[in-house]
Amino acid sequence: MSLEAEVDCPNCEETRSFYRSAAMNLHLGEKTKWRCPECGYGFVRINGISTLPA
Ligand SMILES: [Zn+2]
Repeated sequence: MSLEAEVDCPNCEETRSFYRSAAMNLHLGEKTKWRCPECGYGFVRINGISTLPA
């Protein structure tokens, strides 16, 4: 799995290379936390599905 993801940051209003700040395996799948390197905006993904905001 990639450690970076191109995401449209709602705070910067630009596409950023978010980095994965945390990951854990849950019974319902893999939960990952992503963070914008510019502003620190974060969100959570479960099984690749974003749940905005974090
Ligand atoms: Zn940002």
